[in-house]
Amino acid sequence: MLNEHFLSKNWLGASKSFDKSDWTLVGLPYDGTCSYRPGSRFAPEQIRLASWGLETYSPYQNKDLDEIAFYDAGELDLPLGNRDASLNIIFVAVQKILAENKHWLGIGGEHLVTYPVIQAYFKKYPDLAVIHFDAHADLRDDYLGEKLSHATVMRRICDLLGAENLTQIGIRSGTKDEFEWMQVNNTQIMNKSEIPQILSKLANRPIFLSVDLDVLDPGVLSGTGTPEPGGMSFNELISWLLEFKSLNFVGADVVELSPNYDTSGVSTIVAAKIIREILLLAAHHI
Ligand code: MN
Ligand code: MN
Repeated sequence: MLNEHFLSKNWLGASKSFDKSDWTLVGLPYDGTCSYRPGSRFAPEQIRLASWGLETYSPYQNKDLDEIAFYDAGELDLPLGNRDASLNIIFVAVQKILAENKHWLGIGGEHLVTYPVIQAYFKKYPDLAVIHFDAHADLRDDYLGEKLSHATVMRRICDLLGAENLTQIGIRSGTKDEFEWMQVNNTQIMNKSEIPQILSKLANRPIFLSVDLDVLDPGVLSGTGTPEPGGMSFNELISWLLEFKSLNFVGADVVELSPNYDTSGVSTIVAAKIIREILLLAAHHI
């Protein structure tokens, strides 16, 4: 019998049983369409290691990872040079998780990994809505002629769900066209005073939460592919997330950490802590 000195290096607080877990963490080490600085492929493994520097208890939510059941499935093995094959592997994996009535928590990788996830979710949840935290609008119709890119991902998601089912928070970078599109389609919320209205619109619906970590200020999280000054503090992001705690989260992802651009390792710890809070926000108690 192994004793407590044999450490599992799965995610901090993860359950040993897939069957008994509601949520499944899956690493998606893909950064093939990254438009500026690649490296987010290294994030899932490093976030897992950094999770061991955290406590399982969250004073923000007065909840503990020990009170919820989530399973760390490791990482998908993706053929990095082949975008479409990589996206298809992710799509099939999400379908398998959903078929087992589990919830997906993806750890990117770049933001394009969200697209196949939403494709699979939309089949199961036709009334799905997406809450999107990001510095960037990700609403281009194409990027250098490519329809599938981390710069187009939310536009492609809107093609599926309809723009009325997208809520964007923290956006501070995009083309003039993207900003006009957000205004016309009313996807962006700028101020917490708009939250009651959003909550009544999204109540009792299945919600997917997609957090691009560059929503944080580069002073908080410099380890990312396209850092964008003028972002949220860590506490601001936590307080925005907690505003949505009454919603029915059926899936989530956290993307765009590129750990090797921050040699202090702090960005990776920030990412791990955000994931802990999202797990505690979204997962049901045992
Ligand atoms: Mn993004
Ligand atoms: Mn971004």
